[in-house]
Formats: sequence, structure tokens, C-alpha cells
Amino acid sequence: MFDVQKIRAQFPILSQTVNGKPLVYFDNGATSQKPQVVIDSIVDYYSKYNANIHRGVHTLSQLATDAYEEARFKIQRHFNAKHSYEIILTSGTTESINLVANGFASLLQKGDEIIVSALEHHSNIVPWQMLCEHTGATLKVIPMSIHGELIMEEYDKLLSNKTKLVCCNHISNALGVLNPIEEIISKAHAVGAAVLIDGAQSCPHIKPDVQALDVDFYATSAHKMCGPTGVGMLYGKEEWLRKLPPYKGGGEMIATVTFEKTTYADLPHKFEAGTPNICGGIAFGAAIDYMNEVGFDNIAKHEHELLIYGTKRLQEIEGVTIYGPTDLNKKASVISFNIENIHPYDIGTIIDKLGIAVRTGHHCAQPIMDFFKIPGTIRASFAFYNTKEEIDIFVEAVKKAKMMLS
Ligand code: PLP
Repeated sequence: MFDVQKIRAQFPILSQTVNGKPLVYFDNGATSQKPQVVIDSIVDYYSKYNANIHRGVHTLSQLATDAYEEARFKIQRHFNAKHSYEIILTSGTTESINLVANGFASLLQKGDEIIVSALEHHSNIVPWQMLCEHTGATLKVIPMSIHGELIMEEYDKLLSNKTKLVCCNHISNALGVLNPIEEIISKAHAVGAAVLIDGAQSCPHIKPDVQALDVDFYATSAHKMCGPTGVGMLYGKEEWLRKLPPYKGGGEMIATVTFEKTTYADLPHKFEAGTPNICGGIAFGAAIDYMNEVGFDNIAKHEHELLIYGTKRLQEIEGVTIYGPTDLNKKASVISFNIENIHPYDIGTIIDKLGIAVRTGHHCAQPIMDFFKIPGTIRASFAFYNTKEEIDIFVEAVKKAKMMLS
């Protein structure tokens, strides 16, 4: 039984006041809040078994190593990877994408093509541009409709035997669009291209099955799914991870080192140079346990209700434009909007004074803002711990801000 008040009580930060008002936290797309069990896992690590991992024979090092590797197993099970060594622990989605882009530098050549979508976050654009600069490959873009939906007929036209990689987000951070990644993956595979899915925004809402998707790479960050910042993962199919060279050199990623020649460690350590974010990895595992306990069916149902309710309530405001699909089944619980003749930043600043946290600006997706010819949007992104009452407070605050600014 999903009891939102019971869930809210598990997040200490949600009972705070901000600027003298109860906090309404609708900036979950940027980072989610953390439940007590995740906070406890961090305190436990530092207060009971802090030690460096993998290299120590002493008890604390073994405890820390076991907890860190157990987290990798939790992540493997959660994403249904075939092997735990297909899970590379990184600092987050951005690093995961850069790891793949760096690896492909040795596999691409002039004339090859990489396809991204018009809906990408900068971290799924810039690494590919850098790779193109380095290799002479060309970047192509799947365009979108005015409702922020990818135009799949145009994708079909872009695909050819020159396509080596297709990179797309599962859910767009700027508009909340749920992309048809199954179709994107199968069509890319039909021309022999690999696919990287940016799951930074999907993992807080759904539970991806990387084997069912048959995806080559899947990247995500812990901090958007109740875990800490500075940790995330890259899933890679074994055959690809074996093919790609290491991304960083250093300790942990080697088998043997002499001044003449170094051999690399086996997966996953080949991609995990240096002391990792040990505590972060352990807390990532705790966050995954927590979210599964809440249940992704419950999360999806509750968030969809919030999306429907929030959309309806915001549409009461005259001059509001909501970006993204009109069919709410094609969206996550994200409402990206503007109010006629008012800068999004001004709305965000005023409602912050009323205790409401939203994101305003280009959301690291400048090409989307250019497409709509706007400087940015106001983005309210809901999590499973948000409520309809909070949406009411938010809508009244936006109305008030509009009145002050008109
Ligand atoms: N991709 C998408 C779709 C995102 O929303 C974000 C963060 O907002 C990222 C990538 C980058 O994630 P991180 O900053 O955790 O690496």
C-alpha cells in the first residue's frame, strides 16, 4: 500500500522550512532528495568501516570491499545485467558517457557517423562532438516535432552503414519526453551500430532491463534516484567493454606494471582507475534497495497522477505554454513551461521566496531552447514523495508571481 505521508517521513529534508515556508521540492530532475536509510548507509560507512578497498588484507578493508562489491551486485540485479563485471562504477552519467566516447576514439575514422537526438542533455552531445573532432567522424541529429517527440521517419533516413553509434536519452531532462528507445536500438542494430542510452532521467521513474532492451551501453547517476552525488554507473555489454581501451590510467586498473609495459586488469576494474567513491557506491546500492522497496509500479502510478493533476492545474493559468507531448502517457512527471511575456528566471526567483524549488533556464539542453526560440523554461519535476497539495501551493505561487510581474 503506497502511503505518501509515510514515505515523506523517511526524507528528513522534506520537513524543513525554506524562507519561512514549508519546502516544496520540485527540482527532482536536477537531483532527488535522500531517504534516511541512504543517509544512514553513509554515516555507517564512515563511522564503522571506512577503509580503502580491493588492496587491503585487514578486516576493515575487507568489509568495505565486500560492501562496495555487494553494491555492484545490487546494481547488476536492478538493471538485469548478465554479469556484475558489466557494471562499471563511475562518477555519474557524464563520466559514463565520456568513458564510452574516449573508448570509441580508437574505433572510429573519417566518414563514420554518430547519431544523437535533438533532445539530448549537453553531456550526451559534447563528448560526441569532441570524439568527432578527434576522429573526423560526423555528428547527425534526429529532429523533433513541436511536441518534443523524435521524428522517427527522419531517424530512418539518417541510419546507414556509416552509422557506428546512436546516443539518445531514455527520458529527456528538459521536457520529460519518454523516447521510443526499443525502436531506436533495434533499428541501429539493423545497420550494425552500437547504442548508448542516457538513463539519467529514466532511472528515478522506471526500472530498465538492459538485456530485454538489448542495449549496448546504459548510463545513469545515483543522485537522481535517491543516492548520493558523484557516483553512477555504466552498463556495457561484455563484448563492447572488452573491445574498448581503458579510459583512465592509474592504480586498480592494472594487472602488471613495468616501465616497459603495463597490462590491464580484467573487467570491471580496467575502467575503474584510482580510489573510487567507495561510500557513494555503497549508498547507491542502499538507494536501489530503497526504491525497489517503494516499488517502481507504485512510483509510476503516483507520479503519473501528479503529472495529470499538475498539468491540469497549470493550464488554469492564462498565458501558460507547456512544452513536450500532449499525450501524458509519453511523458515522465516533468512539466516544463513558460508564462507569456515573463522570464522563467523571474518566476523561479519569486516562488523560491515562497519555499518552492524549481529549476529555471536551459536545463543543459540549449539546442532544445533554440528550437523553441526561448531563453529557457520553468521546470517542475515531481518525485514519488511529492503530493497534490504541494502542486496546489505551487500553482497558487506561480499565479501570485505572474500577478506581481505582469
Ligand atoms: N543526462 C541527462 C538526461 C541529465 O538530466 C543529466 C543531469 O541532469 C545528465 C545526463 C548528467 O548527469 P550527471 O551530472 O549526474 O553526470
